[in-house]
Amino acid sequence: KENIYEKAAELIEKSKKTIVLTGAGISTESGIPDFRSPGTGLWEKMDPMEALSTRVLYNDPIKFYNNGFKILLSMKDAKPNKAHYILAQLEQEGLISGVITQNIDNLHQKAGSHKVFEVHGQTRTGSCINCGEVVSIDLLNSKVEKNEIPPKCDKCNGILRPDVVMFGDPMPEDFERAWREAESSDLMVVIGSSLTVSPVNFLPGLVKHLIIINKSETPEDRRADVVIRESASEALSTILAYLKIAKN
Ligand code: NAD
Repeated sequence: KENIYEKAAELIEKSKKTIVLTGAGISTESGIPDFRSPGTGLWEKMDPMEALSTRVLYNDPIKFYNNGFKILLSMKDAKPNKAHYILAQLEQEGLISGVITQNIDNLHQKAGSHKVFEVHGQTRTGSCINCGEVVSIDLLNSKVEKNEIPPKCDKCNGILRPDVVMFGDPMPEDFERAWREAESSDLMVVIGSSLTVSPVNFLPGLVKHLIIINKSETPEDRRADVVIRESASEALSTILAYLKIAKN
């Protein structure tokens, strides 16, 4: 029987340039719920496409700050798990070029990854929807905690928003860069993403070879060289053990 971990390790060793694409599933082991896992996904409690939409943010900011914003805040103190640390190690050893992430939880950076393309924004800063002034997320939080809802810009009194890509927002510049990075790679390792959110789900199509590590099925499974239906940390630990050139 074929050893899928060994095959994944071989593909990574043979590849000239490998890029990783992560989704919410890599952070569930850090205690952050994803959207679509049965039983624990946020989708079962609310509609994130509504709570985290520009429609609600701009038309009903009070509702946004009482719902969607709380989801973002809940990620603040999460810690990276083994999967994030292994990716940082693989980057350091030159086995992957970087990580394209749909996550906004900052956990790749906390684990030590340097090249991170945040295609859905991030939760370190916020900005004014009127004048564009950039503020730290802590300032935004402190205003919300003092019941200044919606929080207002100190310069122009416009509404402040987190710099997270909401449903309805345009894609940030990092997406362009991620696209070029994918185009110039020969292997992509997808980890913990249902590959149902557009346009990020077009990225695997740009790369010749594909490894998918995801607990449930994805639309790209059929064309992948290797599919591993297991938790991200278990799968990456086993692959790491097969990598001859990595310092274990
Ligand atoms: P998704 O919720 O659509 O899919 C997550 C996938 O990960 C599922 O298919 C699930 O089976 C799998 N999974 C869950 N735990 C896993 C584990 N331990 N190991 C391996 N696989 C696991 O997530 P998505 O594709 O990233 O799309 C959801 C959107 O929600 C993204 O745009 C993302 O920005 C956002 N989001 C981010 C966070 C975060 O920053 N941590 C959390 C929730 C949602």
